Amino acid sequence: MHLDDLEVRYLALGGMVTPGRGAPGGRRPAGPSVPVRVDVIDLARDVEVFAVRYAGLVAGTLRAGSSNTRSTVGALAYVGNNLGTAALEDPTLAVDVEGGAAKLRWRARRLVGEVASAFPVDVDCPECGLMSLWVHPGRGVVKCGVEDCGAEWTVGEIAVPVWSARQM
Ligand SMILES: [Zn+2]
Repeated sequence: MHLDDLEVRYLALGGMVTPGRGAPGGRRPAGPSVPVRVDVIDLARDVEVFAVRYAGLVAGTLRAGSSNTRSTVGALAYVGNNLGTAALEDPTLAVDVEGGAAKLRWRARRLVGEVASAFPVDVDCPECGLMSLWVHPGRGVVKCGVEDCGAEWTVGEIAVPVWSARQM
């Protein structure tokens, strides 16, 4: 499920950056360079690493000589097509793939605004007392940003008035 969607979203990432340095599958165009979407390129890279890694692991599990890793989409499709069989040998592999694909997909959704980014609110943390709470709408949690505290609640467990949301 996540994997199929990740393929589509990976291709969409290529359209979000002007072809140039680091663009997925892109060539460097002549002419002036345009501001680079580092977040998009980072995510595309992570999808590429994920695709190659798991295509290799799936091929290894199936004792197939090679996997299709010539392209990222090919590698993702290879993983998707063979994961069911590989999972019979190694059930944790399927869990890792789905978990990893879900995270990457979530990042891709956040990039296009389908998932709202975290934002800070003017509320003191009930644990450490500092004004350090962040709402993570995509995950449905409120979390303290102080590293030593790290207190976390699900939205609803803690009162966070909407009007206190600070604009970034
Ligand atoms: Zn705290």
